[in-house]
Amino acid sequence: MEIRLLSILHDTTVDGPGLRTSVYCAGCAHQCPGCHNPQSWPFDAGRPTPIKDILDEILSDPFADVTFTGGDPFYQAEAFAALARLIHTHSQKTIWCYTGFHYEQILAHPTLKALLQETDVLVDGPFVASLKDESLVFRGSSNQRIIDVRESLLQETIIPHDLHIFSPFMKISSQKV
Ligand code: SF4
Repeated sequence: MEIRLLSILHDTTVDGPGLRTSVYCAGCAHQCPGCHNPQSWPFDAGRPTPIKDILDEILSDPFADVTFTGGDPFYQAEAFAALARLIHTHSQKTIWCYTGFHYEQILAHPTLKALLQETDVLVDGPFVASLKDESLVFRGSSNQRIIDVRESLLQETIIPHDLHIFSPFMKISSQKV
């Protein structure tokens, strides 16, 4: 199984708390005006990469957690779900995932839900330029939600992820859920 991959960045600090290995995939049809990464939109960008190769690169760093971003990983949900399963099988790493879809849309779609079930924290919704706020942490616009997926699935309602447990001294803007 392969993922259409743009790049893998090590020790990023902007795609979730702590040091993270960020997996940037190709392909996004949301095409949000003001997108930070429009070169990721074409579905034929980057190169097809076996998930085993991506897994090996992620596991080569024993400390960093993992973020899936792009592009939108949910356009390659089956392959990313398989990769996430392997990461969880072989490590204690947490997985954050960025998407332009809404949690509710993902939940209603079996293929997308398979990736959701392997995600620890979801940052959902399109980037909305008019709601851009530089003071926000780990998201670009205030409509986007940082969701604790495990608790949300368990309680069958959207539970915001508690950023304070990771970053007690960081300025956190309140989340609208
Ligand atoms: S969902 Fe993300 S990658 Fe896709 S267009 Fe919107 S901001 Fe860009």
